[in-house]
Amino acid sequence: MSRKLNFSAGPCAIPLEVLNEMQENMADFQGNGISLVEVSHRHKFYDDVHNSAIALMKELLNVPDNYSILFLGGGATLAFSMIPMNFLTAGKTADYVNSGTWAKKAISDAKKIGNVNVVYDGKDNKYSSLPDASSVTASNDSAYFHFTSNETIGGIQWKEWPKVGDVPLICDMSSDIMSREFDIEKFAMVYGGVQKNLGPAGAAFMIIRNDLLERSPDSLTAYLNYSIHAEKAAMYNTPPVFTIWGVKLFLEWVKRNGGISEMSRLADKKSGLIYDLIDSGDGFYRSPVDSAYRSTMNLVFRLPSEALEAQFVKEASAEGMMFLKGHRSVGGCRASLYNGVPVSSVETLVGFMKEFSKKNG
Ligand code: PMP
Repeated sequence: MSRKLNFSAGPCAIPLEVLNEMQENMADFQGNGISLVEVSHRHKFYDDVHNSAIALMKELLNVPDNYSILFLGGGATLAFSMIPMNFLTAGKTADYVNSGTWAKKAISDAKKIGNVNVVYDGKDNKYSSLPDASSVTASNDSAYFHFTSNETIGGIQWKEWPKVGDVPLICDMSSDIMSREFDIEKFAMVYGGVQKNLGPAGAAFMIIRNDLLERSPDSLTAYLNYSIHAEKAAMYNTPPVFTIWGVKLFLEWVKRNGGISEMSRLADKKSGLIYDLIDSGDGFYRSPVDSAYRSTMNLVFRLPSEALEAQFVKEASAEGMMFLKGHRSVGGCRASLYNGVPVSSVETLVGFMKEFSKKNG
């Protein structure tokens, strides 16, 4: 089998070892003569998978006991509305940073639930930069402060966390979770879709400090209430079992391969290969974002013309390098270098980029 080099922004590359493990166990789970996806989610087979996925998140991210870890359906998108429903208490304000497409969606949903204050809006710089971490301030009556650690489409990433004192910090880490070391105790909640750095699509992860869960109002219907999910250890209803199995295997792979510190080193190395080429080149490739906030996960770059960008994407694809087209809302090119993308794929891409600029520059 000849595998493509996958630079997709999500769902995206999953290590081949993980895919093979899923395939080998798909019809006959661990030699039990039955598939994991055809037994009850209350059966021991699934229970072990569920608890292992949660335990691995806890271990790899150093999550203390006063946090609950959940995997729920609905993606990060459902969290955009569940967060204000659960934590934006009456009479309070939710602070949001508008850093681009994903932050905007979170803001739009929160505004339908309660009072929202946008503390920073990057529209003047076309969402190509971020505010200084110490320059942002929360409202006096802030319920929480929400931001997006990595804008998957815009290609910008916070390098330091906003400094907002005791105000609960909530972060959408969909596209850089498990790729950088961070202190979870700085956050009241971290969440995101699993389909980038954790496994196949179908669930979102939530890590929520337990004191925040006390805010979930009883008036919420069951599925929308985070405290009910936490009480039932994310088993209130049938969980996305296939996805969570994939997450467990992906996290075991992360652990076998050196944990987050190694993922972080590799993310710097892989993104460095491309940014070095952009910075040291003759201007053929250009990064449209502030160099202080360039993402290590989603690298956006421009070529001298849209025609050349289209040709670049087409020729790369013909050579097996897939999904290098930028998001339709911003154009250009984008290479996503999640944990499942090996260094060798990036080296091949850099070689291709050099050749392409030589031929067309
Ligand atoms: N936030 C960010 C930063 C994302 O990249 C995405 C998906 N690309 C989402 C939220 C939405 O996630 P989901 O599709 O899981 O709802």
